[in-house]
Amino acid sequence: MATLRQQIATNVLTVTRFRELMKKLRENRPNEDLELVKKAYDFSQRHHAGQSRASGEPYLVHPLEVANVLADMQMDPVSIAAGLLHDSVEDTSVTAVEIRQEFGEQVAHIVEGVTKISKIDFSTTEEAQAENLRKMMLAMVDDIRVIMIKLADRLHNMRTLEHLQPDRQQKIARETLDIYAPIAHRLGMGKVRGELEDLGFRYVDPIGYEQVQAAVESRRKKGEAFMVRVEGVLRDGLKEAGISARVESRIKRLFSIHKKLQRQRISVDQVYDLFAMRVITNSVQDCYAVLGIIHNLWRPVPGRIKDFIAMPRPNLYQSLHTSVITETGETFEIQIRTEEMHKMCEEGIAAHWKYKDGPVSAQDEQRLAWLRQVVEWQRDVSDPNEFLSTLKIDLYPEEVYTFTPKGKVIVLPRESTPIDFAYTIHTEVGHSCVGAKVNGRMVPLRHKLHSGDIVEILTQPGHKPSRDWLAIVKSSRSRNKIKHWLNLHQQERAIEIGKKLIEKEARKYRMSLKSIKDPDLLRAAGEYGLGRADDLLAAIGYGKYSARQVLAKLAPAGSEPLPEGGELSASGFTSVVRRVFGGDNNAIIVKGHGDM
Ligand code: MN
Repeated sequence: MATLRQQIATNVLTVTRFRELMKKLRENRPNEDLELVKKAYDFSQRHHAGQSRASGEPYLVHPLEVANVLADMQMDPVSIAAGLLHDSVEDTSVTAVEIRQEFGEQVAHIVEGVTKISKIDFSTTEEAQAENLRKMMLAMVDDIRVIMIKLADRLHNMRTLEHLQPDRQQKIARETLDIYAPIAHRLGMGKVRGELEDLGFRYVDPIGYEQVQAAVESRRKKGEAFMVRVEGVLRDGLKEAGISARVESRIKRLFSIHKKLQRQRISVDQVYDLFAMRVITNSVQDCYAVLGIIHNLWRPVPGRIKDFIAMPRPNLYQSLHTSVITETGETFEIQIRTEEMHKMCEEGIAAHWKYKDGPVSAQDEQRLAWLRQVVEWQRDVSDPNEFLSTLKIDLYPEEVYTFTPKGKVIVLPRESTPIDFAYTIHTEVGHSCVGAKVNGRMVPLRHKLHSGDIVEILTQPGHKPSRDWLAIVKSSRSRNKIKHWLNLHQQERAIEIGKKLIEKEARKYRMSLKSIKDPDLLRAAGEYGLGRADDLLAAIGYGKYSARQVLAKLAPAGSEPLPEGGELSASGFTSVVRRVFGGDNNAIIVKGHGDM
């Protein structure tokens, strides 16, 4: 039992944090009614009373912190209220019905979504993960605020992970790196993603984390002095050119450094962007002007200039990147973007909720379209493992940017082929793709596309996808479309082959497939435990049963097949003596056949 003194301390703590929350909300959303948030706080306080977290703090601290994270993201009052209530159905006696009555449909719907996701056990097997990810994705597209709250929830849980048992820490940290950080990335929420990754990294690979941290620390002092000097040079350059822009520098995130070291097998000293500078301008024109100024001040590293303004990344990240070499030989990276781009890349989809009732921006639409697409793919994929790899591929995009002849940008995974390109245009274009021109020249279908390629797909109506394509394509979308088509048409083909085999065999009995009555075929199918005549034909087509074996059941009683080749010869051969041996495969051995 908590003593009175403890209770008072608790109240002071939570009330202070609630006041801070309300202050943030009033600043971010001066014209909005915050009654809903107050009511949610009171409700949460009442129902979580007496509960405490693993840290020993009162439970209420958790929903309050989650609400504060959401307020920092400048989310709407509905989200904040739902954040305050997010664990109430799961962990208290409160029912969804009560939430609906007290707080209305939207809040209730979001809390239900969060509760649903919380119940998912992302266990260790890939199968279970894929299955659960699927459910989660479905919940996400329903109302994206569900995932925003789940991300805020996860962020606070990661920040306080030290209080849990090591096995729980591992599980939660792994899951954060595998599922939540990539989702934050895909939604363009760079800040949340960065923090989730660094926290996850610390628990999943504590030794690696410490190594990177030590490497960064040993270079920090020198690095920071260097950045101050370089910032000064750049500021002067901008001033001279009459461009007003913000210049800031930072140390790259530990997890990003770690991944880079692993991927490129290099040492910390070779990381160009260990210290990175950012220039934030007022307009797109200024971005390019700043790039010019920078290249005038320092020599650019060839091949390191990237224009993500003209060609945004799939998560809609926009910036100009360049790496330059100073006169004393140091290399560093500079990112240039507008204020708006900066906001979008830090906050991503969360930026949308800043403006009450504002129209959903085209960028948000695109993000939601991605989510819907993931859901659409998973419907075509029956194997959960495959769904997981689909998702993993698409959550970690390493893209090439290609163009249609009309100049539309088509983003594809690295090493994609014209077939991938064709399927991205349209499923039918993919199916009927027979060739491609890249930059005006004919290329084989296995040709690997590069950024900047202009791709023209040649189609032929009625052309069909080939199984060989599966070995060539890179995007999960193409693979799924091809597999889907093959599965659909394989059965048809097997039936065709089955019919042909039966027809051939029937000739030996001087019968034809047509002369075999449907009920007889169905009866034969039944003898193999199959429900339809087509299933039997397909089974023959797949080579599961031999036509000979099946025909023996269909032929009129007492009749026997002609010997091999006999159907071509005179009818006298019918009297040839044969004996049937019942072997494993019911092979028919014709005596005397060798002499003929
Ligand atoms: Mn929670």
